[in-house]
Amino acid sequence: MSVTAESVWNNCLSFIKDNIQPQAFKTWFEPIKPIKLSANSLSVQVPSKFFYEWLEEHYVKLLKVSLTKELGENAKLVYIIKMENTYGNREPFTERIPSSNRSTVSAQELDVPIKSKNPELRNPFVIPGIRNIKIESQLNPNYNFDNFLEGDSNRLARSAGMAVANKPGGTSFNPLLIFGGVGLGKTHLAHAIGVEIKDKYPERTVLYISAEKFTQQYIESVKKNTRNDFIHFYQLIDILIIDDVQFLSGKSGTQDVFFHIFNHLHQNGKQVILTSDKAPVDMQDIEQRLLSRFKWGLSAELQTPDYETRVSILKNKLYRDGVEMPEDIIDYVAKNIKSNIRELEGAVISLIAQSSFNKKEITIELAQQVVEKFVKNTKREVSIDYIQKVVSDYFEMDVSTLQSKTRKRHIVQARQLAMFFAKRFTKASLASIGSQIGKRDHATVLHACKTVDNLAETDKQFRKYIEDLTKKFS
Ligand code: ADP
Ligand code: MG
Repeated sequence: MSVTAESVWNNCLSFIKDNIQPQAFKTWFEPIKPIKLSANSLSVQVPSKFFYEWLEEHYVKLLKVSLTKELGENAKLVYIIKMENTYGNREPFTERIPSSNRSTVSAQELDVPIKSKNPELRNPFVIPGIRNIKIESQLNPNYNFDNFLEGDSNRLARSAGMAVANKPGGTSFNPLLIFGGVGLGKTHLAHAIGVEIKDKYPERTVLYISAEKFTQQYIESVKKNTRNDFIHFYQLIDILIIDDVQFLSGKSGTQDVFFHIFNHLHQNGKQVILTSDKAPVDMQDIEQRLLSRFKWGLSAELQTPDYETRVSILKNKLYRDGVEMPEDIIDYVAKNIKSNIRELEGAVISLIAQSSFNKKEITIELAQQVVEKFVKNTKREVSIDYIQKVVSDYFEMDVSTLQSKTRKRHIVQARQLAMFFAKRFTKASLASIGSQIGKRDHATVLHACKTVDNLAETDKQFRKYIEDLTKKFS
């Protein structure tokens, strides 16, 4: 029987098949076509540059062993990369990749930096085992587990993230879906997992990408006819992190391609980590088959942090920034910004900036102003201190004047208004209001409330005060 390219390759294939997983064989070896055999050199055709790179990266030894068995010690393998949609039928393939050729994926096209250390494609055996492709992880090292503080609100998600980082692809948390509202740490935690994996397993390929960017790349690839390369590229990843998958809502093409990439990665024991602003049940316009995949692993929620966690996040941030801040200010900020950690950090940064630009000390008043800006849209807890501050400002006096023993009419009125609003907007008792507003007793507060009610009915100017101030509190 004569030795042909086919016969040599078929022998190689049967050896390879026995040595790798069926799925990998199907994906990476079935599409290869033997083309030419001359002396000890076999030419095979592969569908894309990534295909070649993947083979070189993962199967170079296997290829070498199998080919050496067939063709002896000097066996050579030549890859031919099929140029889809470029040369048409005139010249269906070439042995070199022209740098301008569009069917090869370059770093710019994918918008993911790829360093090719070895652009010479012809003979992978020259330097066996060398890494030809390096995918930058796009991870932010500042988002790590050390500075992702633990609390009741994130314990499950954080420990699931740790488990995944310890054994990527090797836990039942695959995919790991982290979901929760804005500013609760989804992106931070997703990076932290990636950073930890890179640290523990430097040889694994980790990629962080937002669903938005993924979508853009996909659309580009369709335009440029490099859809297959796009898919192959993503199939190279060992740990794929996609942030804000809710962005895929209604984008059926991208969902479809992601579905295939996901299946491939999952079947090959690769880890997928996703974040979303919603639980899978609440996601809209996401295909059912994709949603069901999301539910395969673990969905872990990041909830709004409790007070203790907010305080520790603030203290940690201040500590890392080398800034000291009085306890009562920290407490004030933590009490008033509840639903968003990004806002919590923003308020602190703004406070530090304000105080250093204006050379002011960080006071409760400053904190109130800053916090007010951050929680405009959320209902704020009105405190008696805050009420006194607002009323004093309105009448252009100090809080201490408002609280003083003076009987001057306009000061008495301001004090009575403060008591009236404290009764109306807080749950404090009359006695407690009195003690906080100039150390008065509960009878004084009761009297103040009645006076304000009366004046509101009889005095037009006074009614205006009440209206103006009410607006400031609601
Ligand atoms: P999301 O992606 O959910 O909108 P981010 O991950 O961007 O939220 O988090 C917002 C900010 O809050 C980031 O600066 C992040 O570092 C910080 N943050 C969130 N959770 C924590 C935490 N548990 N400990 C420390 N910082 C946190
Ligand atoms: Mg985010």
